Amino acid sequence: MPVGTLASVKGVPQDVLEELGVEILLANTYHLYLRPGVETVRRMGGLHRFMAWDRAILTDSGGFQIFSLNDLRKVSEEGVAFRSHLDGSSHFLSPEKATEVQIGLGADIIMAFDECTEYPADRGRVRASMELTARWAERCKNYFEAYKYEVPWEGSGQWPVVSGQYPVPSTQSLFGIVQGGMDTELRRESAVRTIDIGFPGYAIGGLSVGEPRELTRDIALSTLEHLPSDKPRYLMGVGTPEEIAQYAQSGVDMMDCVLPTRAARHGLLFTSEGKVSIKQARYAQDDGALDPACGCRVCQRYSRAYLRHLYAANELLAQVLNTVHNLHFYLTTMRRVRAWIRAGDGTGAGATRT
Ligand SMILES: [Zn+2]
Repeated sequence: MPVGTLASVKGVPQDVLEELGVEILLANTYHLYLRPGVETVRRMGGLHRFMAWDRAILTDSGGFQIFSLNDLRKVSEEGVAFRSHLDGSSHFLSPEKATEVQIGLGADIIMAFDECTEYPADRGRVRASMELTARWAERCKNYFEAYKYEVPWEGSGQWPVVSGQYPVPSTQSLFGIVQGGMDTELRRESAVRTIDIGFPGYAIGGLSVGEPRELTRDIALSTLEHLPSDKPRYLMGVGTPEEIAQYAQSGVDMMDCVLPTRAARHGLLFTSEGKVSIKQARYAQDDGALDPACGCRVCQRYSRAYLRHLYAANELLAQVLNTVHNLHFYLTTMRRVRAWIRAGDGTGAGATRT
């Protein structure tokens, strides 16, 4: 899932995202709650109509962003008081409020409000945090069950009739999130408790918070074993092209990461020949394609020299073209992984080769 923090994948119009084959993108509840605000999005018919995107959207719960605020937040049993990074104004998100906001935004998949445990943390702290997340997950589900038909979608309130069947209510899917820090036993316990509450999909949260990459991998894989394989399993916040191919091969169904888009804006491009830092002077007179093996519209049309010039001159087009290429590279990687899975080739060898 490409990341579209403010209901926009930075620099890339929605029609280009469609052309790239994006099927789902992620938007951030915390940011949209502050700006433009949930009531604006709700009145505009929800995120799909607001951003003119009729493919799938997932919103995170805001827990991770608020966790990142550090000095600006205060956690209690009831929820989290925090100050806006924009204007310092005071806000409060509880499991109920975060669910209400996400119902108002109207994404297809919404996430339980969790506490992302900091790293490093001692075991007592990790346990308390994990148990708080479990109690919050139950509150999120209770609120969701009571208000799940209050989505802003066009025609909501009128259940779509599938021919030959009874009317099917149109709702979102609320996913649970497993926490438990870097402790495999607490991760297992968190998984069991989250599954007991019952969700249509499960996420592994609380990783990529500053721990070594090897530890991320160990905890992700050990947690995965405790999650039902017949429900979507979502690993939050990873990773490099190599990592997403490996995780998918290990049974992860969904991932999101700012890496392809953020790196692109900093001139770091993923190619079949490895990473390219387009800002380097050695590309100044290189008239070859960025990635000769890539079929994207950028590699088909522009030279490395031109892309390097755009970046050096701080032209807006640099960010646009770099992002389009990196998204294409990531999406192609995942298309290849899916093809291997369908073909029953579990090796995943060459996952990032073009
Ligand atoms: Zn390309």
